[in-house]
Amino acid sequence: MAKQAETSNSRKTSKTATKKTARASGTRSAKPDAQARQKRSQTVASKAAAAKTSRQQIHGDKGLADLFEHGLRDMYYAEKKIYKALPKMIKAADHPDLVAALTSHREETAEQIEKLEAIFELLGKRAKAEKCDAIDGILEEGDGLLEDFGASIAADAAIIFSCQAVEHYEISRYGSLRAFADALGLDEAKQHLDDILSQETAADSKLTELAEDSVNAAATDYDDDDSDDEKAA
Ligand code: ZN
Ligand code: FE
Ligand code: FE
Repeated sequence: MAKQAETSNSRKTSKTATKKTARASGTRSAKPDAQARQKRSQTVASKAAAAKTSRQQIHGDKGLADLFEHGLRDMYYAEKKIYKALPKMIKAADHPDLVAALTSHREETAEQIEKLEAIFELLGKRAKAEKCDAIDGILEEGDGLLEDFGASIAADAAIIFSCQAVEHYEISRYGSLRAFADALGLDEAKQHLDDILSQETAADSKLTELAEDSVNAAATDYDDDDSDDEKAA
C-alpha cells in the first residue's frame, strides 16, 4: 500500500520516474514471462466474452427463425385489422363485382387468420399479434381516401387504389415469409403460406381487372355533374 502511494506520487512528478518505480517495486518482473502471457491472454479472452455478452444485449442473438416468428405476428395483426376494415370498404363500394370481390376476399381473410394460427401451432408457439405500423398506415390512408373520394364517382377507383396497396403489402410479406419457411425447412408452414399468397395474388389480379375493365373508365365521367350529386345525396 505504501509503495502504491509512493508510485502515484512519483507519477505526478515524472513519467520516467513512475516507470522506474514500478520496475523497482518488482510487481511485474517477479512473474515469469509465461505466467504473464497466460494472464494477458486470459484478460483478452474475458474481454472478448464481455464484448460478446454486451453485443447480445444490444442486438440480441436472433436469427431467421425469430424473424419468421416476428413476421407471422405482424401478419396475424395485419389480417385481423384487414378483416375489420373491409366492411367499410364493401359498404362504400358501388360496382357489384367490386362488392363481390371484397366480400369473398374478406372470407378468405378469415381463412388466412386460421392458417396463420395453424402455422403458430406447427411451431409450438402461441398465436400472438404484434402491432404492425405498416398495415396501420396503409389502412389509415385508405380511410382518408374514403373520406375524400367515398361520395365521388371515383369512389370505386379509390377503394381499389387502397385495397391494392394492402394486397401488395401482403404479397411482399408472404413472399418473404414463404422463403424464410423454405430456408428453415418448415415445409408444412411453407405450404400454408403458399396458399395464402395465392389468395392475395388472385385478389390483387381481380382488382386490377375490375379497375382496368370498368371502374377506372366510369370514374373519368366527372363532367357529368348529376352522377356526382346523386352519389353525394
Ligand atoms: Zn414488425
Ligand atoms: Fe390477407
Ligand atoms: Fe389480402
